[in-house]
Amino acid sequence: MVLIPVECPSCQRIDVSRYGTQPNGEQRYRCNNTDCPRTIFLLHYHDKGRLPAVKQQIVDMTLNGSGVRDIGRVLGVSAATVIDVLKKKEPDLVPVNARLLRSLDPEQVEVIIRKVEDAEIDEMWSFVGKKRQQRWLWHAIDHHTGQVLAYVFGRREDKVFLQLQALLAPFGITRFHTDGWGAYRRHIDADQHTVGKQHMQKIERKHTTLRARIKRLARKTICFSKSIQLHDIVIGLFSNRFAFGRAV
Ligand SMILES: [Zn+2]
Repeated sequence: MVLIPVECPSCQRIDVSRYGTQPNGEQRYRCNNTDCPRTIFLLHYHDKGRLPAVKQQIVDMTLNGSGVRDIGRVLGVSAATVIDVLKKKEPDLVPVNARLLRSLDPEQVEVIIRKVEDAEIDEMWSFVGKKRQQRWLWHAIDHHTGQVLAYVFGRREDKVFLQLQALLAPFGITRFHTDGWGAYRRHIDADQHTVGKQHMQKIERKHTTLRARIKRLARKTICFSKSIQLHDIVIGLFSNRFAFGRAV
């Protein structure tokens, strides 16, 4: 007879107790290591969507343009599981390029401000379910480097632009290039504002890339999300990984 000790899947220790059973009769275990993030676990998961490796694959496939149903079929999990995993990524999203902002050293602030002197701002839209439920991505990049500074999701309304403007305030930008839409004219000082598509090639290129990479934005019918939250999270995952260079 061979006995194999039960190991905690997080900390790999064998200081583990039985902890009742699941409704289907499967034995549950508890990890007794107080420093371990895992408390209760099973030896075999029937629901693959609970495995950390599968959760990561769901995010990776989303960033490769796979839709919710594609991912479910390939990984053998339900569409609801895919959506659940993606929704749980929301707290990881940041709407401002914090890394670039943190590099603002007070001693060198003049030099760094010169780097982000000009910003291009543009909006890109898609819709959730039906055309009336429009979602706009408001987005600002450094005119010279093309680096994303900040983004906000919302309707095409002034208050969303004001949120973006608030996120941009610490960058000390002195010139804004826009398409001249009303919200920009109303809220950007005229002497800091340049209207014209000729200065917005970088940001329009970024929007083309986003549309090419996210099926959710490119296809008009079956791949559109019914959930506004999910739609925003998927675009947010992209913005964070490709724009801010941060692995999600
Ligand atoms: Zn443990």
